[in-house]
Amino acid sequence: MDIDEKNRWYSLSIEDVFERLGSGEGGLTTPEATRRLQDHGPNELEEGKGATWPEILISQIKNPIIIVLGIAAVISLLAEKRIDAAVIFAVIVLNTALGFLKEFKAEEAISALMSHAAPEADVLRIFGGGGEGGEGGEGAGEGSRGESRKVRVKAREIVVGDIILVEAGSKVPADARIIEAANLEIDESMLTGESVPAKKCVDSEICRNPPAMGTLSEMEIDNTIFAGTIVTRGRAKAVVFATGMATDMGKIADMLTKTKKSATPLKKRTLDLGRKIMFLAILAGGLTFAVGLYRGFDLIDAFLFTLAMTVSAIPAALPAAITVALAVGVSRMAKRHAIMRKLDAVETLGSVTAICTDKTGTLTTNQMTVQRIYLPDRIVSVTGAGFKPEGSFEVEGSELDPKEDGSLATFLRIAALCNDSSLSSKEGDDGERWEIQGDPTEGALVVAAAKAGLAKEDLEASFPRIDEIPFDPDKRYMATFNERDGRVEVCLKGAPETVLGISSAIAVDGEPRDLTEADKERILDMSSQMAADALRVLGFATKTIGKEEVAGFKEAGPSGLIFSGLSGMMDPPRPEAIEAIALAKKAGIKVVMATGDHKITAEAIAREMGIVEGDSRAFAGSDLDGMDDSELDAAMEDAAVFARVSPEHKHRIVESLRRKGHIVAMTGDGVNDAPALKVAEIGIAMGITGTDVTKETADMILTDDNFQSIVNAVEEGRVIFQNIRKVVRYLINTSAGEVLAITASLLFLALNVLIFTPVQILWVNLVTDGILVVNLAMEPKERDVMDQPPRDPAEKIINRDIVLNTLFIALIMAVGTLFVFTREWNNGDLIRAQTMGFITMAMFQVFNALNCRSRTQSVFSLGLFSNRNLMVAIFASVVLQLLATELSFFNAALGSVSLSLTDWITMVAVAATVLIGEEIRKMVAKRRAGGPS
Ligand code: ADP
Ligand code: MG
Repeated sequence: MDIDEKNRWYSLSIEDVFERLGSGEGGLTTPEATRRLQDHGPNELEEGKGATWPEILISQIKNPIIIVLGIAAVISLLAEKRIDAAVIFAVIVLNTALGFLKEFKAEEAISALMSHAAPEADVLRIFGGGGEGGEGGEGAGEGSRGESRKVRVKAREIVVGDIILVEAGSKVPADARIIEAANLEIDESMLTGESVPAKKCVDSEICRNPPAMGTLSEMEIDNTIFAGTIVTRGRAKAVVFATGMATDMGKIADMLTKTKKSATPLKKRTLDLGRKIMFLAILAGGLTFAVGLYRGFDLIDAFLFTLAMTVSAIPAALPAAITVALAVGVSRMAKRHAIMRKLDAVETLGSVTAICTDKTGTLTTNQMTVQRIYLPDRIVSVTGAGFKPEGSFEVEGSELDPKEDGSLATFLRIAALCNDSSLSSKEGDDGERWEIQGDPTEGALVVAAAKAGLAKEDLEASFPRIDEIPFDPDKRYMATFNERDGRVEVCLKGAPETVLGISSAIAVDGEPRDLTEADKERILDMSSQMAADALRVLGFATKTIGKEEVAGFKEAGPSGLIFSGLSGMMDPPRPEAIEAIALAKKAGIKVVMATGDHKITAEAIAREMGIVEGDSRAFAGSDLDGMDDSELDAAMEDAAVFARVSPEHKHRIVESLRRKGHIVAMTGDGVNDAPALKVAEIGIAMGITGTDVTKETADMILTDDNFQSIVNAVEEGRVIFQNIRKVVRYLINTSAGEVLAITASLLFLALNVLIFTPVQILWVNLVTDGILVVNLAMEPKERDVMDQPPRDPAEKIINRDIVLNTLFIALIMAVGTLFVFTREWNNGDLIRAQTMGFITMAMFQVFNALNCRSRTQSVFSLGLFSNRNLMVAIFASVVLQLLATELSFFNAALGSVSLSLTDWITMVAVAATVLIGEEIRKMVAKRRAGGPS
């Protein structure tokens, strides 16, 4: 597939391009595409791929606790405590390995999830037919080998020879020569720096006759689209001649700044916290050291004491636990149809206070059905449901033969011609299933025409489209130019007021006459009536012009059309979205609808769905234009519906909400929504109908375009934050308990022995805690997550509640441990006393892990097995404690002795007090909260 004049694809004829690429109009067969993918590799730029395993390993070793432990190992060696040194060393290796594995697995899970959000593209592929592709050079022929169909593939699977289809909002997936284009404009600034979109076409003078020497620059080549650029207008079909690193973008990929994956703010914040705690630990350690020396410990003992203290205070398992909490949460979100594109957003998600959402497709099912047609001056009802093209047309109860009715036939013809959707049926298990391809609004019109026996394909064959003005949500209309009897029929549809604005005549019973102000009023009135019934209303108009007039007509903008009628289509609300709206409201989240649809339609649906209650007001885009920012902010107080909004309006709405202190999640689908998505804290793109551009700027992608998934994601965001708090609470409880026990033994009990040896405290801190805390990060959601108002994002992770609670828990742990220790020590057996002391402390951790499962709920009400992983971990921890005392190997390593059943009962009973104490506290707190009212 090489070409002598490299980079000169633009100068060849399209036939030559097809021949050299071994492709054709209809594209490649799937087996051929697969073969090419294998031979030439994926369509990807070789860029950074996130955290690699050496990076994770290094981050593990850089962990401060490893450094502290390293020092401890060296000191122990110097002090001739070989066993201690060996144990510490083993702990270092084990801890690094475990932490590494956990983080690596979690990171892997996260990047696997994020790759679901990988870009996709539309290509033509040939299906059926005899040939299994044959040799690449043979060419695909003119559809002779089967049917050519549009399919959606991952952009990385695109190969040379593929025919790609792009439209406004698409990101061009590979370098490709244009073979069909309509009003194509492309933003090539990422490649050329030129910010004005470039107009493109199939063929041009400069490309056909390029200078003999050298090659044209990208800016000059207007019959080619380049990978990484963005379609801002129109659409194109093009044949791929370069993929991956061979594209022009690939050639400059090295120069592109490789965005380094950075830790999420949440992770950074918690790691900072860990560092602060460690600093405190070292400080406390220094103090202990001084006091120890004062008490007459020898240097080594004082040092070991200090070390025990420092180690006990460091929350070693924190980084792994946070990564696990994130990974588990993000994968739960993915299961619930929300894919996080930016991990940073996870933290904010839980504190979202306003969701600003589209209507069509997100709140509604997008299963449009035309129910009413208004032909001046008759109302025609259309029967039938869904996309099945069966139904009848009725006027005041009596059936109408659409073939006999000229104005209805004209109306439906415009509706089918001014249309980019198509209808097809699939043989399913439950009979024939009808599907539409393209915009459901347009699909509904194709279905309506089919109900009258007017097939879109037949109409298009008779009246071929020669040009078009694509739909633009800003202008709210589109038009096609169809050839008819040597002249051109302009077919136009759009928002009723827009269509009336450019019409000057009206067809009554097929006869055009002047459009009067009274007509306009009557029609708009009818449109409002339909809208009040929650119908989506479109207006239609037509005009016949000469072929030579087309260019001028497009240039000047349409005018002087003959108004033909209105269509009203039903788009039923999604029942699950209604539930989600109620849930969001309960969770203190404001729901705002921002739609391009008519104000009355929007409000009717908003009311049906519970977004609007009482007399909250709806605003139209034109209302917004008349307001300055402060007026808008005032209106925002009780506004819930914004209709006929343009992307700029959406931008203003988000900014206003933010000025009012909201944390905003906003959906977007169109090309121009990207700026609004950027301003919102959480930009949400539609996975099915969204454009590449919105997906790329979004923080989150909904795989089902469903409003409910947004609310679910917010819920999961809250759960992630809660779980991180649980982990932090647990680790701080532990550290405080241990530090308090050690300090108290030294200061208040005036003991001149260590209550735990450094190795024992390591055991409690790393082995016992490590197993438990990672599983605490996987807690399922608590029942009342969505009963609470959104969290204040400025609130620290460690709040007053955690501090107070820690004092309470630490006190129980310290008193309990010291009680057990001193009872044995009074008998004079230090080894036994230490053994029982550290096992008691370990058992405290086990019980406290249960406490930390919920801040408010009794652990017994949570269901012990709702976090199965934690139960397994608890079981494992208890077994480990038994091994620690009963195996001689561990006796030697930990300096422990075998204990009796009575000892165990004592320790478990003492340790259980932390659970009992906390359960009582929760009960009292609940009483007080729900107290006498
Ligand atoms: P929504 O928020 O409901 O998705 P859009 O921005 O897609 O609204 O559309 C805004 C308005 O533009 C619609 O109410 C309708 O009047 C008009 N419109 C939508 N789709 C088309 C189309 N395919 N052709 C012509 N007009 C359209
Ligand atoms: Mg839309």
